[in-house]
Order: sequence, then C-alpha cells, then structure tokens
Amino acid sequence: MIPFEEALESVRAWSRNVDPMGVERVSLADAIGRVLATDAVADAPYPRFDNSAVDGFAIGCAEDGRAGAALRVVARVRAGDPPLTSPIAAGTAVRIFTGAPVPAGTWGIVMQEDVTLLDDLVVLVKVAAQEGQHVRRAGSDIKSGMTTVGAGERINAGHVALLATLGEPEPEVRARVPVAVLTTGDELVPAHQSPAPGQIRDSNGPMLFALAQGIGCAVSPPSHVLDSGEELERAICEATSSHRIVLITGGASVGDHDFVPSVIRRRGDVSLHGVAIRPGKPLLFASVGGTALFGLPGNPAATFVGFHLFVRECVAGMQRERYEPRWVAVQYTEQHEACERDDFIRATLDWGASPPEARAVQEQGSFALRSLAEADCLVRIPAHAEHQPGQLRKALL
Ligand code: AMP
Ligand code: MG
Repeated sequence: MIPFEEALESVRAWSRNVDPMGVERVSLADAIGRVLATDAVADAPYPRFDNSAVDGFAIGCAEDGRAGAALRVVARVRAGDPPLTSPIAAGTAVRIFTGAPVPAGTWGIVMQEDVTLLDDLVVLVKVAAQEGQHVRRAGSDIKSGMTTVGAGERINAGHVALLATLGEPEPEVRARVPVAVLTTGDELVPAHQSPAPGQIRDSNGPMLFALAQGIGCAVSPPSHVLDSGEELERAICEATSSHRIVLITGGASVGDHDFVPSVIRRRGDVSLHGVAIRPGKPLLFASVGGTALFGLPGNPAATFVGFHLFVRECVAGMQRERYEPRWVAVQYTEQHEACERDDFIRATLDWGASPPEARAVQEQGSFALRSLAEADCLVRIPAHAEHQPGQLRKALL
C-alpha cells in the first residue's frame, strides 16, 4: 500500500509531464469552466480613462469645493461622451453622470445629493468636497501590460468579465479532456431496469459521468462490461484509443472476478495499485501512452473519494490548470480511531462555527450513497490517529 501523499504526487507528476491537452478558441459565452491556455494581457488600463463614480458636478478648484460655494453649470457630460478638453473655470461646474469621462482639470466631483439646485443653471455646494473625490482613476484596477488572467486559470464569471473588457472575445483554452467510463460487474443493471434478485442498479457509471462532466471533461456515455477478462481487455483497448482518461469502476481488488488489475498490467504501465486510504484502498493508476487509466473500486463511496482525490488532479494536470485542492481546517465532532490507512469521512459543514464544524453523514460504509449526496467535504483523519471530538483536521471541500 502506497501512502496517500506519495500516490497523489505520482498522479500529479505523471499528468503534469504528459503531453497537455491541445488548445482551441471558444466564444466568451462558452468559456465558463474552461482552462485558459495563454495569458490574457491588458492592452489598455482599466478604467480606460478617469471617469465619474457618481451623478453630480465636476469642479475645477478647492475654492469651489467649500460648503456654500455657488457655481454656474456650464456644460454636461454623460457616459459615452468624449472627454471635455477645456479646463473648468473657477466659479463654474460641469454636470456629470456616472461613467462619464472627467473634464480636463477636474479637481473633484460633488455628488448630486450634496448640492442644492438653485435653478437650472446654478448649484450650491452643501457639503465640503475633498480633492479627487468620486473620480475613478484610469488604471486603478488594471495597468496596461498587466497579466490579468493567467494561463491555467479555470475561467469563472469574473474572468469572463475581465476577458471581455480586455477585448478577448475568443480566448484560447485547453481542449476538454476526453473521458471514458467503464462499469464492470455481472450484478449491474442500468437505472431504467428493475433488478432481478441479487442484481443492483449501476450508480457509479452515471456518477462518474456527472463528476467528470462537472469539471469540464468531454465524457462519453458509460459502457458496461461483464466480469470477463477478454471483454474487459477489448473495452479498455477501445476506450484508451480515443480518450485521455479511462475510468473503470469495480473489479479493481483481489477477488476471483476482479479482472481489472491483470488486464491493465498487460496493456499499460501500472504506477499505483493499492493506496493507504479508506475508502478506496484498491485504487489503481496506470498509463497507456498519454492516456491515464484509473481502476476505481466498485463501492460507490470509494469511487467518489478516488475521483475527488486523484482523478481531479489528473484532469488538472493534463490541462496545465492552476489547481490547488481546497483543504480547510475544520473541527471534526466525532471520536474516531483511524486504521492503518488515512480515513476520508464524508461530512457536512457548519460554517457558522469557527473553524467550521464537520459532522459525519450517517452511514459511512463504502457502499453508502446518501453521504455522497449530502457531504460538503471529506475530512481526513491520518492513519493511526486517535481523534478526539472537536480536534482540528483538514477537510477537502
Ligand atoms: P467490486 O469492486 O467490483 O468488487 O465491487 C465492490 C462493490 O461495489 C460490490 O458490492 C459491487 O456490487 C458494487 N459496485 C460495483 N460497481 C458498481 C456500480 N457501477 N454501481 C454500484 N455499485 C457497484
Ligand atoms: Mg465487481
């Protein structure tokens, strides 16, 4: 059994060294969740020009900003207008609206709420103004030449806003990782069928499809393979020829009907088989050329944990994503004695407590499904640790 950190490092290193996914351009409408392939560099500052943060009046000197100053309104400028180039004369003000370029020589802007309109053309300043107030300075957020969204960033809605502002309507992103899902087991029937006595419905196939889709992979519909070495070998060959990651669930252990390890050994380079984690000990990781194969144990919780700990890392590596798994400190409420493996407990989080309190979802057996739907995190209890209620642990969100 390989310790967790070591196993993780081996998947990470392999996936960061293998050929990365190619690049393609997508429209901003399709960019969410994709991994940016090239740095997005600002070709202009943002804000692009000094502009007004409020609806109000631009004034030209300190004298005109004192309480009681009466100013004649000589011009109007609204968002979209070109900047006024003649300086604001003393005793006058320019009517200005949010987003409008500030006129040349603006000393500050007085909010509309801080003046009294005497008539259409004259305003009385009620509240003394400060120099530079309510002016949004060019470049105060982004300087020209700045790398604004770095290569490897997984694009969120904020990145989309930045890319649009930088004039990047079709950012270059990494191709989606093509993923195959193979389920194994003579006992399995698809969700639309009624299981005969002794049979169960396949939950891992749809779950792995959803997990991989959820992180932006191009997932083929899961294929099912009976517990037969030949059939499995054929399915694995076919899947590896057209995918970069092949996820196989079930048959990864040492039972008489567990053909995955022997078949994969014939077909590829196995770098891991057996990781000191619970659930998920039989986890297997191998490669065939540039394709990664994961043999995930059939127990649903083991498959789920294996995906979050290892497959996620591999997808990130192949896309050269800047990926830091989100481990947070939590107070784990239950007493717990870990075995010779690291335990990963499916838990809900109470964010109201500080640090957040993690409570195990009831039924932690590796067959259990409810915990997968309800868990906010996986609490890690290291091998051999004797955990007392309330002690701090790391949890993967
Ligand atoms: P295995 O790893 O093949 O020995 O399977 C371990 C346990 O997980 C057994 O109880 C299987 O019936 C169950 N199992 C295997 N594959 C699936 C699947 N796709 N969906 C739900 N349960 C599964
Ligand atoms: Mg099986």
